[in-house]
Amino acid sequence: LTNTPAFDTTIHRRKTRPVQVGDITIGGGNPVVVQSMINEDTLDIDGSVAAIRRLHEIGCEIVRVTVPSMAHAKALAEIKQKLADTYQTVPLVADVHHNGMKIALEVAKHVDKVRINPGLYVFEKPKSDRTEYTETEFTEIGDKIRSTLEPLVISLRDQGKAMRIGVNHGSLSERMLFTYGDTPEGMVESALEFIKICASLDFYNIVLSLKASRVPVMLAAYRLMVQRMNELGMEYPLHLGVTEAGDGEYGRIKSTAGIGTLLAQGIGDTIRVSLTESPEKEIPVCYSILQALGLRKTMVEYVACPSCGRTLFNLEEVLHKVREATKHLTGLDIAVMGCIVNGPGEMADADYGYVGKQPGYISLYRGREEIKKVPEDRGVEELINLIKSDDRWVEPE
Ligand code: SF4
Repeated sequence: LTNTPAFDTTIHRRKTRPVQVGDITIGGGNPVVVQSMINEDTLDIDGSVAAIRRLHEIGCEIVRVTVPSMAHAKALAEIKQKLADTYQTVPLVADVHHNGMKIALEVAKHVDKVRINPGLYVFEKPKSDRTEYTETEFTEIGDKIRSTLEPLVISLRDQGKAMRIGVNHGSLSERMLFTYGDTPEGMVESALEFIKICASLDFYNIVLSLKASRVPVMLAAYRLMVQRMNELGMEYPLHLGVTEAGDGEYGRIKSTAGIGTLLAQGIGDTIRVSLTESPEKEIPVCYSILQALGLRKTMVEYVACPSCGRTLFNLEEVLHKVREATKHLTGLDIAVMGCIVNGPGEMADADYGYVGKQPGYISLYRGREEIKKVPEDRGVEELINLIKSDDRWVEPE
């Protein structure tokens, strides 16, 4: 027998430049950042402060708010101040809508990052007037975009703040649609046009997103963006998301299929799971995706068999009990297995194992070592005692 070298199971993340958003850094080898967006009207100062705090307390590291008017932009100053006075500073992002350059300039004073959607910078004649864009028209519109965007870029650059160029498949500008079609190419070109304007003004604190509601489109857009950035020597971090993913189980699976697939390839520096549910519901999904991929460990990892005819106890019930007793411990792997038929190797190197031994009895394992056999009704209690004896127990809050 020869000694086979261990297969590399690490996800090698794409190298990106670090972009600072308040006290959080996106990219540059930092852990993938979790973010979401509040639903409150930004004019409701107290409601917004409470919503931002609620999200932040459960692990949302950057919070986005919508800013559709100048009054909303000014409200952000108060929100920021109230957060600092009553809670703490939270990295905030403002979503600015089209034709809103004055709004963007105002809100850039109060938040850490401004998100713009290139598709909403529209300087085109109505669709019915044309069948194509000439190169001159294309360039002329590009120049108008540049002069519109310039003050915001300069303001963010001078304040050391960030911008997200957030392209959406559903809102590409007409000019891009005519030139590239409703395609990932159009999305990537749209982002590149804005990136180039920023670079010409010496501004590089940029995060990019290329979201779509259909997973294959979103995957293709992000992959093409990476390919184009590699060709152009750019290292901007990426914000991943599947837009309008919906709700419930399918919304979560759809988001995971899109976000998880890219993360597994090493692509992605910050994520948002967009559910048609309260934003608080999005945060555990983000952390579960990151934990499942081994990118961040923020909770106990449970390894459990699916159960079968050999199962010696009610696995679903016991797993639930074990989880309830231990879910506050971070950094542990705990296995719950119906029997030991396939050997402790099945427990995938868990720190502790709870394994069916014989009717009425279970065995507790530390790693692959069997520690003791105990009556099943004392199983969870004895598991806690074992964890305590290893000094790895903390009391739940
Ligand atoms: Fe069945 Fe035992 Fe495998 Fe669980 S560990 S699925 S009980 S054989």
